[in-house]
Amino acid sequence: MKIGVVGTGYVGIVTGSCLADKGFDVLCFDVDEAKIAAYSKGKSVIYEPGLEDLIKRNLQEGRLNFTTDIRSFIEYAEVIFLCVGTPPLPDGSADLSQVETAVRNIAEYAPPNSYKIIVEKSTVPVGTHKRLQTITRLYNKSKTEFDFVVNSEFLREGSAIGDFLNPDRVVIGLETEKAKEIMLKIYSDFDTERVVVDPASAEIIKYASNSFLAMKISFINTVADLCEKTGADIGKVADGIGFDKRIGRAFLNAGIGYGGSCFPKDVKAFINVLDSQSVESSILKAVESFNRYRPNKIIKILEEELWILKDKDIAVWGLAFKPETDDIREAPSLNVVSSLIERGVNLKLYDPEAKNNFEKLFPESDKLKYATSPMEAIEDTEALIILTEWDEFKKVKPDDIFKAMKLPVVVDGRNVFAETDMIKKGFRYFPIGKGKVFDMMKKTV
Ligand code: NAD
Repeated sequence: MKIGVVGTGYVGIVTGSCLADKGFDVLCFDVDEAKIAAYSKGKSVIYEPGLEDLIKRNLQEGRLNFTTDIRSFIEYAEVIFLCVGTPPLPDGSADLSQVETAVRNIAEYAPPNSYKIIVEKSTVPVGTHKRLQTITRLYNKSKTEFDFVVNSEFLREGSAIGDFLNPDRVVIGLETEKAKEIMLKIYSDFDTERVVVDPASAEIIKYASNSFLAMKISFINTVADLCEKTGADIGKVADGIGFDKRIGRAFLNAGIGYGGSCFPKDVKAFINVLDSQSVESSILKAVESFNRYRPNKIIKILEEELWILKDKDIAVWGLAFKPETDDIREAPSLNVVSSLIERGVNLKLYDPEAKNNFEKLFPESDKLKYATSPMEAIEDTEALIILTEWDEFKKVKPDDIFKAMKLPVVVDGRNVFAETDMIKKGFRYFPIGKGKVFDMMKKTV
C-alpha cells in the first residue's frame, strides 16, 4: 500500500516516518521547500527524541521519500493522510485554509479512474469531513473515486514516536466498508483498541479529549491556589484525588497552566463549535479564561517578593511549553517574558532546545540575553523562574544555585525541586500549591 502524507510538521513527519518504519512505502509532501530539502537529507527540522534516526533509517531503506511536486505525489499515494496545520483565527475558530488548499489540490491533480482515501489526521471541527467531500466533488474533473476517513492524531510532542506507535486507542471515523478494510489493515500491526465510528463522532472525540484534559489542568490549578491559602499540599491532594479510578492521577500536576500547539487552540475551537451549534459552552470558557491569566501568578509572586522589578536581574529556565520539545507555541514563557520585558527587567533566558524558536520572537538586546547553560543563566541574578520541567534542571544542585545567585529567590512554576531541601538551604522558594511553604515564606521575610 502506498501512503502519502500532506504536511511535514510535527504530526506529518512523525506519521510518515512511523508508517514507513512499519513497512509501508511513504511519500511526504509539503509546500515548504526548505523543510523537504532538509528531510530528504535525513535532517530533522524539529527537536523530537528519536526522530532523526527514524527518518535516516527509513530513507536509507528506501521506504520514506519526500517531494514538493503535487502531481507526482497524488499519482503515487493511495491513502493520503492530511497533516497540515489548523491554527486559531482571531475569533478562536480553527483556520481550515491549509486543509482546504490541500484537499483542493488533491482533487484537481488526482489521476482519472483511480481510488484514493483522504484521511483527516489534522484536528478539525465536526462537519469538516462533509466539507472535504463537497470541495473534492467540485474540483475533481477526472472521476476519481474518493473515500473520506477521520483518524485524528493523539501524539504528544516530546514522546511523539512512542505515542504514535503505542497509542491508547486509534479512532477511525468512516462510512464505507472499503475504507474500513484498508484503514484496519494499516493499523493491523498496532497493539491497541480500534474505535471505529462515524466521521462526526470521530471529529468530536478529538476536541472533547483535549478539552477534557485542559479542564483537568485548570481544575487542579484552582485547587492548588486554595492549597496555598490554607496550608494544604497540592501534591498530596492530587494523589488523594488521583487514586480514584474514575478520576486517575494523570494531568493532575499543578503548575502555571497548559500551553503548546494543541490544548489552547483546541479548547478555543471547541468553544467556537459549541457556540455555533447553540450548545452551552460556559464550562470550557471558564477553563480557557482561567488558563489565559495563569502565568500572571508568577509576576504576582515576584512583585510581592521583590517589589519593583525594573532593572532587576532575573533568570528564566525553560521556554518550551513542555520538556523534550522545542515548540514554544502558546507556551506560558511567552506571556511571562513579555510581562517581565514590560516591567524593564534584565533577563537571562535558558532552554536546552527552544532557544532558536524563542529568539525569533525575542531577539537578544541590552536587557535580554540567552545563556548556554542553566548555571550561566542564574549567575548574579536576583530571582530564578522555572517554567518548564526539563530533567536537566532537576540535576542542578540547589547548593550551586544558592552560591551563584545574588538573592536566593526561586519561583518554581513546575515544582521541580523538593521544598524541604530548598527551605533548609535558605532559599526564598515559591512552588505551586504548597500552602505550608507559602506560610513559612510570609513569616520569615
Ligand atoms: P505544523 O504547523 O507543525 O505543520 C503543518 C505543516 O503543513 C507545515 O509543514 C506546512 O508547511 C504544511 N502545509 C501547510 N499547507 C500545506 C499544503 N497546502 N500542502 C502541503 N503542506 C502544507 O502542524 P502540526 O503541529 O504538525 O499539527 C498538524 C495538525 O495535527 C493540526 O491540526 C494539529 O492540531 C494536529 N495535532 C498536532 C499535535 C501536536 O502535538 N503538534 C498533536 C495531535 C494533533
